[in-house]
Amino acid sequence: MIESDELGGVEKVNSWKPMPHGFSKLLVGSFVYLNESLSIPPQSENKLYLSVEINEKCPLTCKHCMYKRELTAELLERAEIISWLQEGRKDLVPIVWTSLNSKEPLATTELLLDIAETTHGHSDKQIIMTNALLLSPEIADQISPFFDYVDISLDGPPEIHDSIRGPGAFDRTWKNLKSAFYNDSFEKIGIITTLHIRNYDCLSRFLDLIKAELDPPRDRLEVTVNLYVGWPDDPMRLNQDQVFELLRVLERHPLKTRFPLPASYTHMTANIFKEFGLCLADLMYDEATGIPSVDFNGHKIVLFNHVAHNSCMLRVSVDGFIYFGCVHLMTPGKVDRFAIVDVRRDSLAEVAKRVFSGEAFPNRLFASDTGCESRECYKYCLGGDRLGGYYLEGKARDPYCPILNLTS
Ligand code: SF4
Repeated sequence: MIESDELGGVEKVNSWKPMPHGFSKLLVGSFVYLNESLSIPPQSENKLYLSVEINEKCPLTCKHCMYKRELTAELLERAEIISWLQEGRKDLVPIVWTSLNSKEPLATTELLLDIAETTHGHSDKQIIMTNALLLSPEIADQISPFFDYVDISLDGPPEIHDSIRGPGAFDRTWKNLKSAFYNDSFEKIGIITTLHIRNYDCLSRFLDLIKAELDPPRDRLEVTVNLYVGWPDDPMRLNQDQVFELLRVLERHPLKTRFPLPASYTHMTANIFKEFGLCLADLMYDEATGIPSVDFNGHKIVLFNHVAHNSCMLRVSVDGFIYFGCVHLMTPGKVDRFAIVDVRRDSLAEVAKRVFSGEAFPNRLFASDTGCESRECYKYCLGGDRLGGYYLEGKARDPYCPILNLTS
């Protein structure tokens, strides 16, 4: 394990004490899984999610790609990652879902299949995240025995998607998506559209297109309207007025979606609730994950800061380190100083033990040192994006919160 001293003066990790929602800032990933059914939070228990990077290959160079970090070490060999995953399976570390991703998993289909075969059945659900350019009907048939859900990235209607991803990209992805949908290749298909300054104003047209061409029943296709995550000075991020604009589009649209509020937008939560007359008392919880959502005219606004279980997503990087969540991807340069373990040294069982005993956490990640607990907004955002604060500034303070920035 990387010692706390190497993390820039962070106090000794052994003094870390779990908070009621200690891990809640760490849960990101696929939302296709959720199925809100409880009006009160489920019983608390530890939840582990695994995200495994497959490769460093992608035929595209999207402007909003999160992969800004550089690799630190050699890529893990196929045999190394497979034996690490097999060992985790043998040790029966329970996992809610496993997501195979990055950069484009279908760019190395054989490797993907080898890993998918190893991890399949170890978690409740297995998910592939892909741009679907290569998800031909033949490939869908090949991989579908190992995946329950496929999450497909689409950035908007054809001209918008192609302006971001390159000419012809939309048609190929759309064709493959429709074929997987009509052939029932997967239990469920997710469309994730990530909105930023260049495409947020096309949301209505995009939802119209999906409704007109697929008219999906919600139990087969789930559309997630995602917000671009970037550091505070990133010009592609949306401001609060633009987020309100999106919500007004959703409020009127008949195609119902999920709208997760990423940790880095949680400081807007209180204002969103006030502007749209929402109430925290109306949260509904997913039984399996404890992730809450609030109904918004048939859409679901997902608040992962309020997750009811101790939940932790571990991301295994292609170069063999494990990180919390995926915020580190946005940090340019080498990011191994933020890693909690090295796959070449520690088993999955060991990592899980350290995470849920609190030992693996630098305590400043969760310590209540934001100075915002007494504010009204705290009940909505629970202190904002501490993970982002940790990666960006080495402390728990939310780097995006205008209130904290004003008082600093
Ligand atoms: S002051 Fe704290 S609780 Fe309030 S919005 Fe900012 S980070 Fe969230």
